Amino acid sequence: MTGSAARAAAFRTLHDEVQTPLFMPVGTQATVKAQLPQTLEDSGSQILLANTYHLLLRPGLDVFRRMGGIHEFMSWKHSVLTDSGGYQIFSLPHSRSITEEGAVFQSYTDGRTILLSPEVSIEAQVAIGSDIMMALDQCVASTADEVVARAALELTQRWAARSLAARGDSPQAMFGIVQGALYPELRRESALGLAEMGFDGFAIGGLAVGEGKSEREDTCAFTAGLLPEDKPRYLMGVGTPLDILEAVHRGVDMFDCIIPTQVAQRGGVFTSRGYLQMRRGVYKFSDEPLDPACDCPTCRRYSRAYLHHLTKTRETLGWQLLGKHNFHFYHRLLREIRASILSDTFLALYQEKQAALHEDDLDNPVLKQAPKKTKRLALGNYEIHTAREGFSSIRHIHSGEIMHSRTPPMEEAQRLYIDQSRLSERLRGAESGPLVIWDVGLGAGANAMAAVDCYERDPAPARNLHIVSFENDLDSLRLAFRNNDRFRYLRHSGPAAILKSGTWQSKSHPGLAWTLVPGNFLETPGGTRLPPDLIFYDMFSGKTNAEAWTLAAFRRLFAACRERRAELFTYTCSTASRIAMLAAGFFVARGRSTGDKTETTIALTPQADRTGRELLATDWLAKWRRSTARFPADLAAAEHSAWEEVILRHEQFRDLARKPLDTRDETNF
Ligand SMILES: [Zn+2]
Repeated sequence: MTGSAARAAAFRTLHDEVQTPLFMPVGTQATVKAQLPQTLEDSGSQILLANTYHLLLRPGLDVFRRMGGIHEFMSWKHSVLTDSGGYQIFSLPHSRSITEEGAVFQSYTDGRTILLSPEVSIEAQVAIGSDIMMALDQCVASTADEVVARAALELTQRWAARSLAARGDSPQAMFGIVQGALYPELRRESALGLAEMGFDGFAIGGLAVGEGKSEREDTCAFTAGLLPEDKPRYLMGVGTPLDILEAVHRGVDMFDCIIPTQVAQRGGVFTSRGYLQMRRGVYKFSDEPLDPACDCPTCRRYSRAYLHHLTKTRETLGWQLLGKHNFHFYHRLLREIRASILSDTFLALYQEKQAALHEDDLDNPVLKQAPKKTKRLALGNYEIHTAREGFSSIRHIHSGEIMHSRTPPMEEAQRLYIDQSRLSERLRGAESGPLVIWDVGLGAGANAMAAVDCYERDPAPARNLHIVSFENDLDSLRLAFRNNDRFRYLRHSGPAAILKSGTWQSKSHPGLAWTLVPGNFLETPGGTRLPPDLIFYDMFSGKTNAEAWTLAAFRRLFAACRERRAELFTYTCSTASRIAMLAAGFFVARGRSTGDKTETTIALTPQADRTGRELLATDWLAKWRRSTARFPADLAAAEHSAWEEVILRHEQFRDLARKPLDTRDETNF
């Protein structure tokens, strides 16, 4: 077979010759639910599956012995395969225990304690009189760990040998069952061991019990490839038409599943036009057949409208008619597959069916509810918030935190960062080299754009300005930019370029440049070779972003600018943040109020000009001593006791008590 492991073959049972690949309807209680044996025969069923476990309990083996076996009993003249009961031991929740001897469980019909051993299982299958018996196995969840899977596999191998021995001189065929969960080496050990025992065929067990589709397909392909070429391979409990197509492609010959009758009971049918759910109202007035490409008795005689009605009223006839069609669909699919294998055109069929079997009703598609036409006011973790005063700002959805909640963004940026930093004054200063602003927490770009605006309004700035923005999530800027009718300061070439390429060089003001440093700021402060003169520190609060306010964060900031006359501005006035700044080496002063904050914070390097700054003093120290947040969160507990002295030794506070000392280096712990 070209490009596929698909096989077409035939083998003889005690009743007839069967042609593979084939699908076996499940007749748990010696009946395929809601279907006449004649219907099954007409649809092309070659083998029915019956469940030893259930038939052993009821009607009991004596009935089969007296009635001449299951064929006579249920009036089915073709082949029957009986499972061993292993799957029911695994799946039914009755109290049970598994020993070397077998599985002990309580009968659900009369409460008797029953031992299902390999010998009992084979004795039962002989009495039932199936054409193909299955060896007793221990099935475990496919997701079982390796120890459990290995133990189950080894027990299964021993039970397989006992099952074969128990067959005696019965002419019935017997298949062994490969276990081993999803472990290739266990599957190999199981397959090779069973192959040596001389079974008539092999089942791939322990799949369709908890694994994902690709895991199942990989394990199926791998296991099938280990099995003898000249014996049938049976994938137990699988599956949908698509599952079967995939497994045939991987070298499997036989399948069983309750799906055709189970979905029919609920109104489901597989058709050449996709999978239909007959409860849907779209079929209420439809005089079409279920499937225009099907010649089954249901499709020849009944309309979709009638089948819709029977389904809605839960009439047994609806279940029966839909199930009948589903069996025709399954068997026709397998006959088509077999014909394509024999003519070496399976791959083309595989591709065509693979696409078609994925579909729901092609002619009456289930309409996904159309997305409401809302303006795009959210993006990623951010949404636009409109204040009562009418201005817009950005809210972090997860934390609920709003950037610039009480004051329009540009107003706050101007007040807190541009005015306090005396930016326009510094741009006119005599210092050489560009003035560098670290805009930490670009957000919706208000602080950076306020600096851009400040530079552009200066008729003759003496220094160049380079803004370096740090941001790990550009969605807030992107969202504001898309809604720049609400964020008018973003109607500018700068933000557009930053979003597009991460860098901007002003054409009208050659001395003005802007660079984005993407990523987590705390991991990137060394990522720029431009040490800052000004830091606009506008990160989310400690509740949302705790690490932005730690001792470690401020130490890194201090390290980046300690040799310069640098200043840091931030909106917070929290004691814990200020103490972290002090400990990192900054001098700390009160900043002006904004919004509902009565004060903010300015941190200065030792070289910075402290003229006019309101440095924290004794009143703040007293407050600090009373505070419950006396230590930065990341300060080791062992350091707590020495902490007060560390702060008191800071040059900022020594100045208060004594005359100033030139011991600046000591502050840089
Ligand atoms: Zn049909």
